[in-house]
Order: sequence, then C-alpha cells, then structure tokens
Amino acid sequence: MSDIAVILPDGSERSLPEASTIADLATGISRRLGKDALIGLVDGSETDLDTVLVDGQQVEIVVPDSERGLHTIRHSTAHVLAQAVLELWPGSTFAIGPPIEDGFYYDFALADGATFHEDDLDKIDAKMREIIKARQPFVRSELAPAAALELMSDHLYKSEIIQMVASGEKASELASEMAEDGDSADGAAEAVISFYRNTDDFVDMCVGPHVPHTGHLGHFKLMKVAGAYWRGDVDRPMLQRIYGTAWADKKQLAAHLVRLEEAEKRDHRKLANELDLLSFPSELGGGLAVWHPKGAAIRKIMEDYSRERHLNGGYEFVVTPNLASGKLFETSGHLDFYADGMYPPMEMDNGTYYPKPMNCPIHCLIFRRGQRSYRELPLRLFELGTVYRYERAGTLHGLMRIRGFTQDDSHIYCSEEQLAEEIESLLEFVVSVLKAFTFEDFTFNLSTRDPKKSVGSDEVWDLATKALKDALDKFGVPYEVKEGDAAFYGPKIDIDVRDAIGRSWQLSTIQADFNLPERFELEYVAADGSRKQPIMLHRALFGSIERFFGVLLEHFAGNFPAWLAPIQATILPVAQDHQAYADEVYAKLKASGFRVDLVEANDPLGKRIRNAKQQKVPYILVVGADDVAAGTLGVNPRGGEVDRDVPLDDFMTKLAADIESKA
Ligand SMILES: [Zn+2]
Ligand SMILES: [Zn+2]
Repeated sequence: MSDIAVILPDGSERSLPEASTIADLATGISRRLGKDALIGLVDGSETDLDTVLVDGQQVEIVVPDSERGLHTIRHSTAHVLAQAVLELWPGSTFAIGPPIEDGFYYDFALADGATFHEDDLDKIDAKMREIIKARQPFVRSELAPAAALELMSDHLYKSEIIQMVASGEKASELASEMAEDGDSADGAAEAVISFYRNTDDFVDMCVGPHVPHTGHLGHFKLMKVAGAYWRGDVDRPMLQRIYGTAWADKKQLAAHLVRLEEAEKRDHRKLANELDLLSFPSELGGGLAVWHPKGAAIRKIMEDYSRERHLNGGYEFVVTPNLASGKLFETSGHLDFYADGMYPPMEMDNGTYYPKPMNCPIHCLIFRRGQRSYRELPLRLFELGTVYRYERAGTLHGLMRIRGFTQDDSHIYCSEEQLAEEIESLLEFVVSVLKAFTFEDFTFNLSTRDPKKSVGSDEVWDLATKALKDALDKFGVPYEVKEGDAAFYGPKIDIDVRDAIGRSWQLSTIQADFNLPERFELEYVAADGSRKQPIMLHRALFGSIERFFGVLLEHFAGNFPAWLAPIQATILPVAQDHQAYADEVYAKLKASGFRVDLVEANDPLGKRIRNAKQQKVPYILVVGADDVAAGTLGVNPRGGEVDRDVPLDDFMTKLAADIESKA
C-alpha cells in the first residue's frame, strides 16, 4: 500500500498508509493524542475523526481543551440532551440545538403540549449520563431531501428545515445557530442532508462534526428551562428550551459554576436595588431606568471625570436634541439601514420626527455649518448624548440592554494625513480613561473590510485599515484581526475589558467612516486651497453610560472605590451623648467636600454598623466617649481592620489620598 503525506500545524510532514483516518493520524503521533482527539481540522474545515485523509492535506487534531474542542463537546452534548428527552417523553419532537457561549441548548415540543419543570432536569441528567456511559458512536450518513423527509416524517420542525434546505433557502434565511442543524450543500439541486445516528432509535439531523462517541462527554450541567418561539417568531409555536453548560473536564466545569455563582451575587440589577442606586419602574415601561440620588451621584462623578478628560484631550463640547426630523435620517441612511433599531415616528405639523438612535448625523450638521479649514482639523466633537433604540422586550436586560441611554460619544473629523496619529492618541486616551476605573486587562480587535458590502474606494479603505493597524502596532498591544467583520462604511477597533471575575465586556469602539462625510457632503479647505472630504471617526469610550455603570457595579460588586462611592464615610455615634461631637465631625468632613452621612444612635450600634456595611460604604466612623475627649475617630475601613483613636485630620488626609489615587 502506498503512503500519503499530510502537513501538521508546525509545518512538518507526516507519512501515513493510504486510507488512514484522522484518528489513525492522532494515534500515530501519540497514544495520548489518540485518546484525546475529538475532531480534525482538515484544510481549515472541521470534520469527524473517521474522515479518510488525502495526500497533501493540512491537518490539525482538535483536543477538548481548545475553543473548537469545547464547541464540539457542547454541540455533541446537545444531541445527547435531545436523545434523553425523546426517550423520556415518547411522542415528543425536537427543533434545533446549537452550542452557545459556555454551553448549549435544545428546543423541544413535548407530546400533548406538556411543559418541563425544573425538577425534570435531574431525570434528564441521569438519562444523559446513561447515554454517555454507553459510549455510543456518532455515525454520519447523508440523504437526499426526499429520503431525509421520510426519515424525519414524525418531526415537524426538522422537516421544515429540510424543506428550507431543499428549496435553496438554506442557512442565510435561518438564524445563524440554525445553520448548525441541517444544510450541508449549496444549491437546491444537489442538496444533501446529513444525519448522525447514535442508536437504532436515535438519529439527529446535523452538519457535524461530533466527538467520536458519547464517552468523550460528561462534564456538563443542565441549567434551566425556558420558552422560545420556533425560529424566534412570535407567530410560531412556543417551544420548550433546555439550557446546559459543558466543559472539557471536571475542574473547568466546577470553575464555571463558581463564576456563575459569583456573577449572580454581583448581578447589577440586584445590587442596584440593594444599594438604592436606580430602578426600572414598571409604570415607566420596559428598558428605561430611573436613577436614585445615590446612583445619580456616582453617575455624575463618572460624567464629570469624562468631561474633564475630554476637555484636557482637546475635545469641543456640543449638545444636540433628542428628536430629529426623518429627513435627517434619510440623509444619514439610518432609515434605510437602521430602521429596526429606531422608535416609531411621530407625525407633527411640519413633518415626521424620530427619537434619535445615534448622535452622528447631528454632529455632521455641526461640522457642515460654515466653511471648515484644514487648520481646524482634527475637529473633535464630544457629547454626552442620549439616544433611544428599539430593543425587543424579550431581549431587555437591566442596564446592559436598555432602550434609552446616554453615550459618551465623540466624532472626530480629520484629514487622511492626520488619521494614523489621531487613532494612536485615541487608543492611549481610551485605555488611560478605562484604567482609572481599575480595568487592566484589555483585548483589541481590528475589523477589516468585507469587499462584498462596503462603500468607499480601495485607496481610502487601505489607508484607514493601515492607520488602525499602525496605531495598534505602535501602541504595542497584541490584537486580533477579524477579516471582513467591519461595517460597510469603514474599519474599526473594538476594545474589550476583562472584569474582576474574568468576564469580557466589549466597551470602546474606534470606527472609521467614509460614508457619512459623503452623504452629508462634508468638506474642508486644504492647505493648497483645494476642497477635500474629511475622514470621520466615531468613538464611544464607555459606550453607553448605563451599560458601563452596570459593568462597573458588577466589577466592583458594589464596593465602589472612595472616589466613586456615593457615601464615602458613615458616622455612627456610639450613644446619644456623642451626638454633638458626631455632628461636628460630619460638618467638618462635609465642609472639606467629602460625601458623608450620619446615623443617629436610635438603634443599637451593632445594627447600625451592619446596615452601613450592607451599603458597602468605604469607611464607617464610630465615635464614643474617648473620641469626644481626644478629637479622634474609630475608623472601620471596608474589608479591613478597625483603627481606633485616629485623629480626625489624619483620617481626612487618608480619605483625600484614597480619592486622589482613585484607590
Ligand atoms: Zn450536531
Ligand atoms: Zn457615531
């Protein structure tokens, strides 16, 4: 038998007998790899381990502890979930079951319209573990649509997917996750549907690939039951969805469950309520927040800080209204490209008006007012601009997904020559502001052009992409290039931060735009007297103040550092006798600009200390008889040891230093 050679990820070649599979390759490299291997990546495409290799192919073996490995584990576990449910609820049917971040879900329609209950999860879990223990193989087969329909004749939703694939409607029309199930061919003519069979009784339709057998699974937990409309359409049947999480090993699963528990403790909606920061009154309507005095105090400090930094950063402040005429959004293209995200129009005497979903078009009007010279560039306009975006009720989530919010929004108009330097200084600016909020771990992503949908010349795209790239290189940070991920109007840099419990949040964006300057016919007079179009940069730093506040609240778990804390110190007189001195301390701190409160001795001291601790105040100051005599305080710092007999002046120096250092 002749040999073939394949190329491994390190560039080396490896010879194998003809007709070898990826599994053979893995075992040949090492027994360990043979045992761990889940799927293969052949010339960039994921495929099952039993795929026969061809001479010259580039092959990578995917193991559990990798992004692709986890994806495969989650995807395969979803099938086991479906198998368990169909076995436990005879006569039921299943729809789609994709992997998602950290896990998977599967949608079902139970026989006779029955619904799951939380305690069904244990029963399903046990059945899944039986299936896993049996080490059932995932065996692939392919059928033409007619045969596929026959095989799935008892399953309405699968049949619908087959018909879509067969008609060429395919994945593009389906939600992206649905592409996980079903199609494997491009045209209607040669449509082929792939199936994976685990037992005589259980077969699922799927493009694959999967782990070789169910024995590779097991580090999973079923999380919850929810309702979900078929294909996300409220006019279609409501299905029963089960969510689960799955990992490569026991340790990863345990760590994830701890993270979830920690995240739940830190839930900003819960903390906002406990700390009396803000609320979402139902009378107000979904996705709209009201800020209570303490929340508004923190927000004001964040905004003041942002304003100060922008002022020092050479930005000019502008203010624009919350409503704008539909004509403006026709010019900007929002009514063509962004109508779904806009509130419904209001008809008024002289036209149609919309709550603004973005500030950019109005900033362009400011640029266009009067003749601009190259000497004015870069022109950096800044606004804390409130926008309204329509989000479906089901997707609203506290401050993280909200219908009315304020952006720390900036639009920078510059010349081509200024672009690289401007972007580099923007990166510095953004990171330095985020660091003030104790974020240290950043991820940078560069999204580049999708040639199939983009406006602007090759020349300008190349120039802007190079400027963004050069700025990132000069800034000296690693970044990921997301090819073809840019919006149609220009490349962008996204900046993600990692929070205190390791979660990643996308916050800041620097976006080049060649489209709006064109649509608004923006121009400036260049040094040589010619008229040129400026490049526009959109830059949001916090993103939305609301969402950033939510992220901060969870990041700090409500323990705001002294510079942000709405109350920096709570004064507690031990007894009524010490009230006068406590008043004096209060007045002095207040007069020095500190944010303090005082709780009179109407309740026992222990109870008042507990309450102040629950409010997560940076310092609790207890004053008793000795303090009255000596002019001192008992200083009880959040999470630290009590320090007695501290002179008031010393405490004020300490607090001022905390605030100054933003500690
Ligand atoms: Zn699958
Ligand atoms: Zn913008």
